[in-house]
Amino acid sequence: MNDIDQIIDQVSDYLRYKAECGERVVEVEREALVALRAGVGAAVAAPTHLKSQISNLTESNSVPPSTLPPLNTSTPRPPDLPTSRPPDLPTSRPPDLPTSRPPDLQTLAAIAAECEACRACGLVDGRNKVVPGQGCADSPPIMFIGEAPGADEDAQGLAFVGRAGQLLTKMIAAMGYTRDEVFIANICKCRPPGNRTPTPQEMAACIPFLKRQVAIVRPRFIVALGNTAILGLLGETGILRIHGKWRQFEGIPLMPTMHPAYLLRNPSAKRACWEDLKLVMAKLKG
Ligand code: SF4
Repeated sequence: MNDIDQIIDQVSDYLRYKAECGERVVEVEREALVALRAGVGAAVAAPTHLKSQISNLTESNSVPPSTLPPLNTSTPRPPDLPTSRPPDLPTSRPPDLPTSRPPDLQTLAAIAAECEACRACGLVDGRNKVVPGQGCADSPPIMFIGEAPGADEDAQGLAFVGRAGQLLTKMIAAMGYTRDEVFIANICKCRPPGNRTPTPQEMAACIPFLKRQVAIVRPRFIVALGNTAILGLLGETGILRIHGKWRQFEGIPLMPTMHPAYLLRNPSAKRACWEDLKLVMAKLKG
């Protein structure tokens, strides 16, 4: 491409840009017009429509040369296009995305920590490990609730891990679940000395922890294990009288039945206990 071709292209671009901006008159210096006219005359290859465009420039040249701005031969850019980059998009992650454990587990862990620090009743003085309870924290089918930890639970910090706990594991398996699929807890989180029955005052001091656990875990059904459990949860006595009869605790259907420790001492009661558990299973399937 020779010099005149470049000039013609640049002028053509400039005129198109001005036309797109709505302008119909372009002012140029007289000397530039003379040079362009001479150049166009010599450029036999220039397209006819460009010759016409350039010729029209002379007809609009009515401004004295001294007041005309010089013709800018570089390709102009539209004046108001944004030149800076858009504001930087945020690169940091949202501040409140969970980074570790799910909130429910964090809350259960917080309750366990509160139990660890609790001195609301005298049971704290005789215990080794606090036993907050464990299992599925996300709406398990069943939450089993006993009265208080025994020696094995006190040593390990886990609910229902002694002989009675092993029988409970079999009962859970017979219902079609594993221990990890249910939640297991006691009303009192500390072991009473000599495995004695916790007093109503000790259960009343500790039961707020259990109520908070029930609210977090949201089990579909509760199975209350034994006489002391129904006293602490329902204020009722006589498990052999009310077992198999539906009750409620914190708005959740509750089935009272015999404690596994009682079943170990009275194996003949296992059948009645199994009938109670079958009522829960029927509700779970329904
Ligand atoms: S049994 Fe419950 S209320 Fe009593 S000290 Fe232990 S955690 Fe606290």
